[in-house]
Amino acid sequence: GQKVVLITGCSSGIGLRMAVMLAKDEKKRYHVIATMRDLKRKDKLVEAAGDAYEKTLSLAVLDVCSDDSVKQCINGIKDRHVDVLINNAGIGLVGPVESIPIEEMKKVFETNFFGVIRMIKEVMPDMKKRRGGHIIVVSSVMGLQGVVFNDVYAASKFAMEGFCESLAVQLLKFNVTLSMIEPGPVRTEFEAKMIQDVKQKDCPGADPDTVHYFKNIYLPSAVDIFEAFGQSPDDIARCTKKVIEASRPRFRNLTNPMYSPIVALKYADETGGLSVHAFYHMLFNMGSLMHVCVTAMKYLTCGCLRTRTISPN
Ligand code: NAD
Repeated sequence: GQKVVLITGCSSGIGLRMAVMLAKDEKKRYHVIATMRDLKRKDKLVEAAGDAYEKTLSLAVLDVCSDDSVKQCINGIKDRHVDVLINNAGIGLVGPVESIPIEEMKKVFETNFFGVIRMIKEVMPDMKKRRGGHIIVVSSVMGLQGVVFNDVYAASKFAMEGFCESLAVQLLKFNVTLSMIEPGPVRTEFEAKMIQDVKQKDCPGADPDTVHYFKNIYLPSAVDIFEAFGQSPDDIARCTKKVIEASRPRFRNLTNPMYSPIVALKYADETGGLSVHAFYHMLFNMGSLMHVCVTAMKYLTCGCLRTRTISPN
């Protein structure tokens, strides 16, 4: 029969494209329950789903930050049966730490960390009982490597990586699979909007030098990096479909080959010096991104290190 796939955060971006791609599977192997906080935002998804809407794709309300909402949604599913849970909902946060209230930081953890855990707690017990199921977490390259001015976002994704790395071992005993998807930059409207918002903020509490590094050095280079190396939400959806369909899905799945050298830096030098200095040069000595990649490639090709990505093609 069809596999039931539940996805969080489907009103936009990666979640929307995942829902559409799985619902349009040629062999109709999936029934997608595409969830979002507010069904008023369903139009883009419904339009993109076309004929699949109300056939292989249905909608449901779900706010990952609310116990009641999560319970209600899962209780509304026939036999509470979910074969594949895709934890996609997440929020970003950039800026100097000095200028971000703790309350705002907590919101990031509420969504990116506790939101995922809330979903897993609700769905995992049934999967364990059935001795089957697949839990997918959309993490990030920033779940493996910190990035300047993304301190809190990276921390929330690191937290998720640590949680899942621990849980995966136990789940293996129950024949439940756990997979992380680790995209680099993805060109969603969200990113453009965040950069626009940031330009208008004046970073209260941060000193002028820090604000200068953030706005005039980090932001423009972040924009360049998105343009040069960004993948599309469809690329991430294709990678995720591959992971779902793999006979033995990997635990970690970097989607962007440009980023595997960066992640490899930290494994090439366990003191952390190489990563920290590489990022320092990337930020403050413009144009040296290529230098960093070349350095990393040297480590990779010396044979002691190998990283693999999952290709969207
Ligand atoms: P997006 O903003 O388009 O999608 C995130 C979705 O999550 C939105 O639809 C939003 O409404 C939803 N959401 C937020 N809070 C929620 C809540 N409490 N309950 C339910 N839904 C909620 O951005 P995206 O790029 O598609 O992000 C999807 C995932 O991919 C996130 O986990 C993000 O961290 C991750 N990611 C994004 C990038 C990137 O560059 N865009 C890179 C790596 C990882």
